[in-house]
Amino acid sequence: MNEILSEDIQYLAGVGPQRAQMLQKEIGIFTIGDLLQYYPYRYIDRTKYYKVNEIRGDMPYVQIIGQFTGLKKMGDPRKERLVAQFSDNTGTIECVWFKGVKWVSENLKANTNFVLFGKPNIFNQSYNIVHPEFEELAKYQSQTHSSLSAMYNTTEKMKKAGLHSKAIQKIMRSVIDRVKKSVITETLPSHVLQKCRMPILKETIVNIHFPENADSLRKAQFRIKFEELFYVQLNMLQRKLAIQKSVRGNVFSEIGTFFNTFYNEKLPFELTGAQKRVLKEIRKDVGSSKQMNRLLQGDVGSGKTLVALMSMFMGLDNGFQACLMAPTEILATQHFQTIVEMLNGMEVNVRLLTGSTRKAQRTIIHDELLKGTLHILVGTHALLEDEVKFKNLGICIIDEQHRFGVAQRARLWKKNIVPPHVLVMTATPIPRTLSMTIYGDLDISVIDELPPGRKPIKTAHYFDNKRSRLFGFMKEQIKQGRQIYVVYPLISESEKMDYKDLEDGYEAISRVFPPPEYQVAVVHGKMKAADKDKSMKMFADGKAQIMVATTVIEVGVNVPNATVMVIESAERFGLSQLHQLRGRVGRGGDQSYCILMTSYKLSDDSRKRIQTMVATNDGFEIAEVDLRLRGPGDLDGTQQSGLAINFKLANLAKDTPILKLSRDIASAILEEDPNLQKEENYILQKQMKRQYARTINWSKIS
Ligand code: ADP
Ligand code: MG
Repeated sequence: MNEILSEDIQYLAGVGPQRAQMLQKEIGIFTIGDLLQYYPYRYIDRTKYYKVNEIRGDMPYVQIIGQFTGLKKMGDPRKERLVAQFSDNTGTIECVWFKGVKWVSENLKANTNFVLFGKPNIFNQSYNIVHPEFEELAKYQSQTHSSLSAMYNTTEKMKKAGLHSKAIQKIMRSVIDRVKKSVITETLPSHVLQKCRMPILKETIVNIHFPENADSLRKAQFRIKFEELFYVQLNMLQRKLAIQKSVRGNVFSEIGTFFNTFYNEKLPFELTGAQKRVLKEIRKDVGSSKQMNRLLQGDVGSGKTLVALMSMFMGLDNGFQACLMAPTEILATQHFQTIVEMLNGMEVNVRLLTGSTRKAQRTIIHDELLKGTLHILVGTHALLEDEVKFKNLGICIIDEQHRFGVAQRARLWKKNIVPPHVLVMTATPIPRTLSMTIYGDLDISVIDELPPGRKPIKTAHYFDNKRSRLFGFMKEQIKQGRQIYVVYPLISESEKMDYKDLEDGYEAISRVFPPPEYQVAVVHGKMKAADKDKSMKMFADGKAQIMVATTVIEVGVNVPNATVMVIESAERFGLSQLHQLRGRVGRGGDQSYCILMTSYKLSDDSRKRIQTMVATNDGFEIAEVDLRLRGPGDLDGTQQSGLAINFKLANLAKDTPILKLSRDIASAILEEDPNLQKEENYILQKQMKRQYARTINWSKIS
């Protein structure tokens, strides 16, 4: 590593051991290299001045020239604050300090021109600035200022220690002066820099902190974002190539009796265009000698199960066994039943294995698996247990990916000498940029079309005061023979409050919908599994018209006769969760409804979430909004991925074009030089080793 970049920050002017320790603790900065990667969050024009009468409350900052015309200490001595008036020839604005009162009062002078800088707030119908920066005008003007001056985020503790944005900028100034005189080792090969017309590293570092002009700043930002995204893509794609090269997959060369009988005799409807396309993609994978590692994305109800079954037939037709794994017992059971139904008398041996499968049944399953007479095994995590041994497992389908870790995927591979093809299905739509990043080592197929004849679910937002209208609507639907879900939020299993909401709600509903005319079932996470199943069954069999539940019903439950989803306190749910819940209705031929109940108090974000739900049924569109609202780190599935996707500068919601470019370039490089051994790619190999020293070697896992 380059010397200056690895230097300890404590020896910098303006830092020292104490501040160094604070910077380490607060923002993880140890070396000059770390410091240089502490990028500004905004640039402001320090050559522009405002008049007091031009100030508005929504301005991010203002810079004013004027004089302090009054100074007063207020409040009791322990909670003292300092209030000053600052005036120019157009008016006066108030300045307030709650901290550093002593220092401020010593440094304020009357009858002297100052430059005041800070964020204006509206306070008591006029404007004030809390904790403004100020400096004597004469002194300020003796320094050079840029029209693009960097602002740095600081924490409370840092501010207390005097490490506010301006102090950081000052430290940065001295570091940048040294950077300019040093050799900085380049981290991208010159052919990449040239292809994308990007500045060299040194120029980038200088311009991100002290931009010469808007154009050089834009170029610096582009290069940094590119580099962050590029190395993730290079790593992913290299991993994918390594697996493809070292792992030989089972070849399903034939389409035979299983597939054809099903397709020609049992399939009750036409496949959608999207289903056909995806099946072709899968067929191409399993027909080659590569091992398939494919992610199948498709909204709830888009017909993934059918695609899964037909993919399994491809294995069966070539003498292989198949398995389907789901995250919960309810789901596994449902898949099992659906498959048996779809087979409609075809001679396929399918069995179900879950945690509650009896010993005798297990013995049969184990035995048939080894003999090869069991074609398809459906189940939960129980499939991963060591005693589950296949004669010849050819393909494995995993439903609801984000509940299974990557390590578990790897365990499946061990069930055979030749690892099975893996198809991961997810109903949580993920924006393309995100899936390219966290599932960059998988191929991706998307079912972006619903089977014909589905009526889009109608979604409405009611405030709490429309409850009686809601109840009326529910009664009307029940009269028509339909069923209804009412869902309450459950933030954490331990929160008593949440259960109280559910219990109160259940009581209220039972009062409005009394037996014997109505039956209300209830399901929540604190119930025993047997009771839960009993309640679920009551609803699934149509014996209860209303199901009051927490989000336990979120995943996969299929009751086609249910047409209304009422979500209580909808403002407390995330977007993807709301979308998943809504997906529980609209599964039959009848018009379905989703009603979002909220209180009057809505934050901007929750308002946006509700509006999005009312406006669209498109899971991908919803996922995009979710990504913009929450950032990638909080989206479902990203935590488990364990990948660095919270970039310093790149933003997966906004930088799609840069992401695509970086992936294309990474892919082109690997195509010509898979092991990055060419001279011109030396830098890449070195950087990959540095950045991914601790990641798993995927080619070794099987
Ligand atoms: P997903 O698993 O993607 O949520 P499913 O596979 O459960 O969706 O399919 C939802 C419903 O749509 C099922 O009842 C299924 O039989 C039906 N279905 C699937 N594909 C088609 C199709 N091409 N045409 C009509 N109905 C379909
Ligand atoms: Mg499904």
